[in-house]
This record gives sequence, C-alpha cells and structure tokens, in this order.
Amino acid sequence: MIEREFSSVVERIRVLCNVSLRVLDEVAGYPVYAVETEPHGQEERPSVYINAGTHGDEPAGVEAALTFLESAVDRWSRHFRVVVVPCLCPYAWVRNQRHNAQDVDINWAFLREDVAEIACVKRVIENSPFRTVIDLHEDWESPGCYLYEQCRGMSIGRLLTDRVRDVCLVDDRDRIEGEDAVAGVIHPNMNAPKRRDGSGIPIALFRNGHTDSMITAESPSGLALGVRVEAHLALIEEALTCHAEVVSHNAALRHDA
Ligand SMILES: [Zn+2]
Repeated sequence: MIEREFSSVVERIRVLCNVSLRVLDEVAGYPVYAVETEPHGQEERPSVYINAGTHGDEPAGVEAALTFLESAVDRWSRHFRVVVVPCLCPYAWVRNQRHNAQDVDINWAFLREDVAEIACVKRVIENSPFRTVIDLHEDWESPGCYLYEQCRGMSIGRLLTDRVRDVCLVDDRDRIEGEDAVAGVIHPNMNAPKRRDGSGIPIALFRNGHTDSMITAESPSGLALGVRVEAHLALIEEALTCHAEVVSHNAALRHDA
C-alpha cells in the first residue's frame, strides 16, 4: 500500500544548490539518488558518507538527510566532500515497510549480487575511504537514542550521544539489542555470527576498510518524527565537528613540520 509519494523527495533534491545529483540506479521504478557537494577550490577534502532510508519504515533518517542537505551541507562542504544517499530504498519508503521489492532486508544483504540497492552502495564506496560513514536508522523498541560505533583510532560515540541528550532521551541501559552498551554507545561484538559473515552493510563498510569511523544511529520510533529528526541532525553535526577538528589539527601539524 502506498503511504508516501516519492515525488516529494525528488522535488526537494532537485532544488538543492551547490550539489551534484547522481542517480545510482533505478530500482523497482524509483531513482536512488546520491547527492554530492561540489569541489571547493583546488583543495582535496576528506569524504564523508551519510546514508538513510535503508529501511523504509524508518522515515526519520530520510527526513534528517533531506533537512541536512537543505540547511547544513553547504556549511560543511568547506571541510568535506559530502555524499548523501537520502533514501536508499524508495520502494520501501513509499510503502512504509522494512524490506525492498524483493522482500529482502537490504541492511543484511551486502554479500548478495542480485540486490540493486547493494549495488548502489557499492557505487558510492568506489570513492572511499570515507573519514566517517553515518547510517541513519530507527528502533521501534528502544526508549531512547543509541548508536553502534565501529572505529579504528578515535572513538566519538560518547560525544555524539552526549550531544543528542540536548534533544531527546538517550538509551542508557547497559544492554541494548543483546549487546553491551555504555551511555547509548554499542561497540558491537564483531565475532557474533551475524557479523562474522560480512552480510551487514555497516560491518562490511568498516571491515573492508571503506571507513575507520562507522556510526549507525538509531532514533526511537516511539518519539515524534520531529524529535527523531532533530536527534539525527544533532548527531551528524557533532560527528562532523569532531572529524573537522581532527582534520584541521592534522593539517596544522603537517604545516608546522
Ligand atoms: Zn534500520
């Protein structure tokens, strides 16, 4: 059953300024867009990748990605080449359902060759590595926001959930989804069977070296959409702030050397 019109998303993407649009593929009758900031002078900037709409029944991520493109991406394009896939699975989003047209949970289908949305993700990561990848999701059972963080080097998870506390409740339980958690941050057990096989998109991106900072953000579906969107936006803002500080610090060190 159709619950949303994808044309509303397309219209919002088409009127964006200072970005280039790429249709990664046409899947089940809908275009999958990647929106990318345009080059900024001659300088090579680190890349970041923000993904949303993997699960169609988690609309806060899609709305946050679109709002980020409309209101914030310009500001960040000085620091980063920003790539945003605001809705990875339009077919599921218009129907408010988790699975794609093949009834596949894309998030756990990275190893499949026959899932077009996975091919779209692979097209985006051709231009890796990414300084960070932020994947926006929702959780129907959690009372508050939390996130999964996979990182080599700098851990920023706690800074992100602290920032989110300004907007909404953080899930402070010490076990979330069967995993140890501290202050809304899960550092997932990579040896769990479901992770070992490499079928999860975030796991594959991290393990295959496409990023050293993989954040999977979960906002609580029980809260109002506007609050979930604000939570995602706060998290994105804090993550980019952290990475921009490190990038400029490293540049200053190189300059001094
Ligand atoms: Zn999800």
